[in-house]
Amino acid sequence: MSNAIVTEVVIVGAGPCGLFQVFELGLLGIKAHLVDSLAHAGGQCSELYPEKPIYDIPALPVCGAQELIDRLQQQIKPFGAEQHYGHEVTVVRKRDDGRFDVETAGGLVFDAGAIVIAGGVGSFQPKRLGVDGAEAFEGTNVFYKVRNAAQYHGQRLVIFGGGDSALDWALDFAGKAKSLTLVHRRAEFRAAPASVARMRELEAAGQLTFIEGVAESLMLEDGRFAGVNVKATAGTTHALPADSVFAFFGLHPKLGPIAEWGLELEKRALKVDTEKFQTSVPGIFAVGDINTYPGKKKLILSGFHEAALAAFGIQHYLYPSKRQFLQYTTTSPVMHQRLGIPD
Ligand SMILES: Cc1cc2nc3c(=O)[nH]c(=O)nc-3n(C[C@H](O)[C@H](O)[C@H](O)COP(=O)(O)OP(=O)(O)OC[C@H]3O[C@@H](n4cnc5c(N)ncnc54)[C@H](O)[C@@H]3O)c2cc1C
Repeated sequence: MSNAIVTEVVIVGAGPCGLFQVFELGLLGIKAHLVDSLAHAGGQCSELYPEKPIYDIPALPVCGAQELIDRLQQQIKPFGAEQHYGHEVTVVRKRDDGRFDVETAGGLVFDAGAIVIAGGVGSFQPKRLGVDGAEAFEGTNVFYKVRNAAQYHGQRLVIFGGGDSALDWALDFAGKAKSLTLVHRRAEFRAAPASVARMRELEAAGQLTFIEGVAESLMLEDGRFAGVNVKATAGTTHALPADSVFAFFGLHPKLGPIAEWGLELEKRALKVDTEKFQTSVPGIFAVGDINTYPGKKKLILSGFHEAALAAFGIQHYLYPSKRQFLQYTTTSPVMHQRLGIPD
């Protein structure tokens, strides 16, 4: 393919294990491109628990999850791997010459010598609103993320959810929306207590309405979106005219396209050997939460080890006649050169 980005390796997934794979490949002088469907690096660490501390990373007695990702980014910087975010890898196809065609939903195309799948538990998808017909209005009236906040100013807004995203956006839109309703199925919130307290103040000041309840159905007028019916816990149904409805119910992982690449699976994970962490297709490796083998533990630490061994496996796949030997980062001049460390 003429417009393809030619590279030694494509890494699918930029969670902690995908990021560390860049490092291990880089030490061996192998270049990689990183691709992730999320808008940023970090996988579960950044998406699910960025503020939480991790206690089982060697030599870091405590490290925030986002801090770990920031540190990994710093560590892989010398290798200059290009990182492509907002791109779900949809196609991985092995060619007769042993190389791979890789395509993303957003139109990126790679011609890669080897693949590492570091897809974790899959790509994260928003949990949907769960009322009939909502899909037809996704992106026009029903939203799962806010792209350009200003476009909703002056609108009638309904926000569903009780976590930080729901509360943060409710606070942000208060005073800017024409009308604003927050709906959550319980009176208790997962969001930061300070945000909940502020929301209650805005409610008292009449800038926001809170309803304890769930979405029941869409309101349509001549087939056009007109709002949403909410069934309150108390039993009454509220018809809420709205221009835009947001649902912030969190994300759930979907193995998605990875399951369609012809690789052997066991319980929704990719079977690998424990010598090189190669899948059932030579040249496609898998590290981190996405893989399985006897004794597998889904820990970041395990993924780091897997990435180190996969790097050697990849080097052998790409350059079979190259002699392999172990070098220490402490003493290897060639590794210092690759790391940009003056000897
Ligand atoms: C609340 C919580 C606390 C945790 N605490 C710890 C702990 O203390 N210690 C520990 O070791 N582990 C902990 N874990 C587990 C740890 O986060 C995972 O083991 C780790 O994130 C796995 O890293 P990964 O790189 O394999 O995958 P992930 O972090 O899941 O990242 C995978 C990435 O791949 C992307 N992706 C998937 N499919 C595609 C595709 N087709 N195209 C493009 N991108 C794709 C996803 O968008 C995602 O960003 C915790 C997990 C949770 C949820």
